[in-house]
Amino acid sequence: MDGAGESLPTKDLLVGFIGAGKMAFAMSRGFLRAGLVKANNITVSDPSPQIRQEFKELGVNIAEDNREVVNRSQLIVLSVKPNVVKPVLKEVSSVISKHNIVVSIAAGVKLATIEELLPTGTRVVRVMPNTPVLVQAGAAVVAPGSSADPRDSELVVELLRSVGMCEQGNEKLLDAVTGLSGSGPAYAFAAIEAMADGGVKMGLPRDLAIKLAAQTMLGAAKMVVETGKHPGQLKDEVCSPAGTTISAIHVLEKNGFRGSLIDAVEAATTRARELG
Ligand code: NAD
Repeated sequence: MDGAGESLPTKDLLVGFIGAGKMAFAMSRGFLRAGLVKANNITVSDPSPQIRQEFKELGVNIAEDNREVVNRSQLIVLSVKPNVVKPVLKEVSSVISKHNIVVSIAAGVKLATIEELLPTGTRVVRVMPNTPVLVQAGAAVVAPGSSADPRDSELVVELLRSVGMCEQGNEKLLDAVTGLSGSGPAYAFAAIEAMADGGVKMGLPRDLAIKLAAQTMLGAAKMVVETGKHPGQLKDEVCSPAGTTISAIHVLEKNGFRGSLIDAVEAATTRARELG
């Protein structure tokens, strides 16, 4: 790569992960499975020897420290916990150049905070992904920093699409994205568990109840995505007059089901704003 701002073909892209935890593992495995990045072009660093071993099995390079990741990479993913982002940036700032793209997936850490700790003009892109990137079904929104080239965001979107859906947005949206899709898998897990409890209460074996509940959520989500129909219309189509489903919907409405989910997204968004 010769200059800042030029588009990078992912095939030859050198990708680094600072922090080799769950999200870094899921993303690097996704990039490899999709054939977007070569294993030999990925370098990771992490203080935990046990975690480094998991990554060795992927065939990626293990760096001795975070500065080595920067030295060996064009695009560097900050995949440490939010409270570790600042110390890591201070540690690597002197080796970051205009040739690097710094991608932060840390919840709540603002672009301005990251840019302040890096050399002026550093190309930074912020992403809010979620844990289903582990099974290539993630949902992510990408927001460019003040010096990022539009092609930098496009590159990050292309990479994230190897582990699910990914859209471009701006930073103002990211707290609400955190509240909806970042934290959302937990709401879905709670719903699956509760639906399975209902099945068990009504006589189903636990393992069958969990399988049915999970597949029902998966199938319903797939119908929304694949038919493009409004979820309200799809719900209406399941509710026959005087049938079983409308009786259940009445109970959900009386118990504030939809209001609870709206409140949950609001609460998580508010908390994300406080953290930032
Ligand atoms: P994780 O704890 O699995 O991984 C973080 C890794 O960073 C650990 O392996 C840890 O050993 C390593 N680490 C700690 N200090 C370090 C240092 N100084 N240098 C290098 N590595 C260091 O966490 P995760 O779930 O993969 O989350 C990573 C980031 O992704 C977080 O900032 C989080 O906000 C963001 N994120 C997570 C989720 C989620 O649901 N897990 C969703 C969206 C965004």
